[in-house]
Amino acid sequence: MSLGDELRQLLGSDAIADDSETLAAHSGDKWFAAEAPEVVVFARSTSDVSKLLKFASQKKIPVTARGAGFGYVGGCVPAKKGIALSLMRMNRIKEINFADAIAIVEPGVITAELKTAARAQKLFYPPDPASMKDCSIGGNIATNAGGPRCLKYGVTRNYVTGIEVVLANGDVLRTGGRVHKNKTGFDLVGLFVGSEGMLGVVTEIMLRLLPLPPARATLSAAFATMSQTAAAMVRRKVSGARRRRFVNYSLVKSRMPWKWRPAKKIARNSGRCAGNSAIHCARLG
Ligand SMILES: Cc1cc2nc3c(=O)[nH]c(=O)nc-3n(C[C@H](O)[C@H](O)[C@H](O)COP(=O)(O)OP(=O)(O)OC[C@H]3O[C@@H](n4cnc5c(N)ncnc54)[C@H](O)[C@@H]3O)c2cc1C
Repeated sequence: MSLGDELRQLLGSDAIADDSETLAAHSGDKWFAAEAPEVVVFARSTSDVSKLLKFASQKKIPVTARGAGFGYVGGCVPAKKGIALSLMRMNRIKEINFADAIAIVEPGVITAELKTAARAQKLFYPPDPASMKDCSIGGNIATNAGGPRCLKYGVTRNYVTGIEVVLANGDVLRTGGRVHKNKTGFDLVGLFVGSEGMLGVVTEIMLRLLPLPPARATLSAAFATMSQTAAAMVRRKVSGARRRRFVNYSLVKSRMPWKWRPAKKIARNSGRCAGNSAIHCARLG
């Protein structure tokens, strides 16, 4: 019996694909390396993942977890062939709770969709990998993803309070929880976040949310040299008051607060930012 047929018996036909088109579609990510798996399994539940990993570990068949396939380092490439385990059908946002600012999600939820759902409840999920419209929360956990906001808000690890993870032998482990302060014992959540799927398959995630900021804006500044850039960043970080003045000054001077203005014009108008810097501001809504 083929591996595909064995897995159909174990998990049902609709969870298994071994046609050449599906295998090719699950062979790579956004990096250049690719290797087709023998079978793709589309998990629908923690129980599916548990049954699969138990089966695969008994038969010593390699399993490679896969989110949206938007990684840049080949992490989800099934380099040893075997089974590609897609988590993209486990894509429910189970809960977003305003009272304790916690979201509980399945790994296949697209990052931008979680952000939108949180925002609808006046909550904010800060991690913002540039691929957020395409990548999954499960992939973000495995890679500890972070984007431009990480300097201010931190990366994915800073928002994970609990996970459910299926270990290689099929055992299901729950660690952490929904309380924001959870300081006792080993930091197993921290161990799994960023482990690239090597320690287990994450099947449920509890995420800490923040109150939605009342407004936000982007300030971009261009400097002539790297050392000027670094010096400006250090000044921003060490002096909150000065940082506010720095930002407000350019907005007030523009006389069009929160609206786009050509970078050159603002640079000309902004005494503090004069010289080799150019600044523009945008309201992002
Ligand atoms: C245009 C572009 C921009 C990007 N920008 C950023 C950025 O700003 N910041 C950043 O950090 N990254 C960025 N990335 C990289 C990538 O988007 C992130 O690494 C993202 O977290 C990958 O998520 P994914 O769902 O696509 O995961 P995949 O690529 O499918 O998998 C990535 C890794 O996670 C593992 N994995 C996936 N799901 C699970 C699970 N449920 N349990 C256990 N392991 C799992 C896989 O085995 C693999 O090792 C970018 C990529 C692209 C293409």
